[in-house]
Order: sequence, then C-alpha cells, then structure tokens
Amino acid sequence: GGKEKVAVIGSGNWGSAIARLAGLNVSKHTDVFEDSKVPIWVFEEDFEGKKLTEVINESHENKKYLPGIQLPENVVAIPDIVEAVKDATALVFVMPHQFLAKTLDMLEGKVSKDAKAITLIKGVDVKGADIHIFADVIEQRLGISTSALSGANIANEVAKDTFSETTIGYRTEEDGKLWQKLFQTPNFRVQLIDDVAGVSLCGALKNIVAVAAGFVDGLGYGDNSKAAIMRIGLLEMKHFCQEFFEDVKEESFLQESAGIADVITSCLGGRNKRVAEAFVKEKKPFDVLEKEMLKGQKLQGIHTAKDIHIFLKEKDRLGAYPLFDKVYQISWEDLPVEKLTEGL
Ligand code: NAD
Ligand code: 13P
Repeated sequence: GGKEKVAVIGSGNWGSAIARLAGLNVSKHTDVFEDSKVPIWVFEEDFEGKKLTEVINESHENKKYLPGIQLPENVVAIPDIVEAVKDATALVFVMPHQFLAKTLDMLEGKVSKDAKAITLIKGVDVKGADIHIFADVIEQRLGISTSALSGANIANEVAKDTFSETTIGYRTEEDGKLWQKLFQTPNFRVQLIDDVAGVSLCGALKNIVAVAAGFVDGLGYGDNSKAAIMRIGLLEMKHFCQEFFEDVKEESFLQESAGIADVITSCLGGRNKRVAEAFVKEKKPFDVLEKEMLKGQKLQGIHTAKDIHIFLKEKDRLGAYPLFDKVYQISWEDLPVEKLTEGL
C-alpha cells in the first residue's frame, strides 16, 4: 500500500511524550511514513490566557502537560478531532481512559476502514459482568485493527530519552512492526508480542497495584512491604487475566516491560503511587489531591479499582482478589488504610 499517515489522539503527559517520538520517527522513516505533519488532537482549554493549541503550535512545547520538553516542529496541535484524523491511516489513541467513550462517539464514521490503530490507554471497559480491553472497544466501534502498547514508561522520563523499554501487543506481526517503527528509538526499546489482551490488562491492573504501593509508603512500612505488594499484585494481575481472558501469555507478566517492569516503576514513582501516598499522609480526598498534585493530569488506578470491583462483584469472585478489593474499599468505601495488608 501507500505510505502511512499518522495522527495522535490525546495530548496529555504521555500523549505529548509519545507524539514527540512519532514526530521524530515519521521524519526518519520516510520509506514507511508520509513525511508530513503529525496532527495531535488537543482537547481545547485555556492555558495562561491563551488557547492550549496555540501555545503548543507557537512554542512547540505542551507547557501544561509536558513542560520543559521540546516537540518536533512537525507535531501540530489541532482542536477539531475530525480534522486531526482526516486521511490518517495510523491512529494512536492515548488519553485518560475515562474520556475514550466520548472520543469514539466523535470519531465513529469519520475514520477509513483501511486505517489501523494502537492504544496506549491504561484501563478497562466494564459494564456489570462485561469486561473489554480498549483495543477491542476501538476495533468494534471503528472497525479497524487495533494493537496495544504498554510498558514501564513514566512519560517525563521517556520524554528525556533516558533508557526505557516498552511492549507492543500486536494483532498481526506486520502491524507490530509498523508501530515499532513509529515509536522505537535508540533509548526507547520496543518489544513485540502476540498478546494484545495481556499487554492491555497488565497496563490497566498495575495501576491498582501502584495505589496499594502508595498506601504502603503513606503508612511508612518500608521496602519489604512494598516488595510484597508488588509480588501479590503481579499474581492477582496474572490470575485475573487467566481467569477471565483466553490466550493471555505468561510471558507478558514475567518477561515483558508491560508486566513486571511496569509494576515496579509504577510502584516506585508513578502518579498513582504518589497521590495514594499523599491520601494517607494528608488525609484529603483523591479528587482534591488529583487537582492539587497533578495539575490537570488524571489518576487512573482508583477508577480501575472501582471498575474491577464492579466486575468481580457481578462474578461473585471478589474473595479471590483481596489486594484489588482492599484498594477499592480504602479508596471508595472509607475502609481504614491500616487494613490494607490484613488477610493478604
Ligand atoms: P494525562 O493524565 O496527562 O491527562 C490529561 C489529558 O486529559 C489532557 O490531554 C487533557 O486534554 C485530557 N482531558 C481532560 N479532560 C478531557 C475531556 N473532557 N475529554 C477529553 N480529554 C480530556 O494523560 P496521559 O498522561 O497522556 O495519559 C493517557 C493514558 O496513558 C492513560 O491511560 C495513562 O494511564 C497512560 N499512560 C500514562 C503515562 C504517564 O507517565 N503519564 C505513561 C504510560 C501510560
Ligand atoms: P501513573 O499513571 O501512575 O503515573 O503511571 C504511569 C505509567 O503507566 C508508567 O508506566
């Protein structure tokens, strides 16, 4: 076929970091990608008296969500989502999971059936006893093949080009190689695996584990406790995937960046961990801390804990996932945080 035309849908902390890599690689791999602008859809808002899209396009920096990082000049902020995806053949979905449904409403019928997509969103879609990964949600709504990327990828670090790895779970090997070309750099190493569900679910569920790690830090328990939470959390993640999803690969948990490595980085320094720690120390509600600490960036873990709670309750399987359940109860039901490790 012809060359691929890329669009990035979402422009937060990770969206901006990943648009930077896409912009650089589109100019580098002109055999595969149209050497043109990379539109990035921006949910328009005011920033210091100006429109955020204008700030990004004039300064080549997302001063609100990824300050201090220069974006390549071919990355162009666009407030109209339909215009942003016009003629695109390779769509990158990267937004807080709570906004995907509305975004798909705006995109339905506007995307060519020949296009393909990849999702970098960490979360799951739950309606009662129904659970879906977002790659499947996108695939069904837009009718396009959708892969998933997830890994130990604190956005601010990836944006500074310090060595990191990530995992792409692909639909077809050909798709996997295309997405690898779009994101890989000498310091951002992309591994491929035939496991869209495993990669997606690791990214979603590790956010619950990271909240638990933040609670442990807030309680001042130390490194042994943190390691125990990581171990128990990784096992609940794996158990959950194997119980409710077919064909998830063991390697995704134990050998890929999306599995064990993302659990570690997220439990050490991610936003979920940091805000959960403050929840214990400052005794303020999560929504207040999110606003104070994250400046417009969004917490994912407590929402995923609630989604998983709803699903497991419907399935009558809460008892099999005590760590996930404790995170839910502490975050949403006022269970005292000291109960976190009771009965684990
Ligand atoms: P973010 O947390 O920085 O959230 C801010 C974004 O949300 C902005 O682009 C803002 O425009 C958008 N937004 C706010 N209200 C909106 C609305 N009503 N409709 C649509 N968009 C709205 O976002 P992020 O860090 O780019 O995270 C996106 C996804 O990537 C998440 O699932 C996250 O878990 C995942 N992720 C994040 C990181 C990271 O380090 N930040 C790393 C890996 C994966
Ligand atoms: P937080 O959202 O907790 O910052 O995690 C980011 C992430 O997904 C790191 O891989």
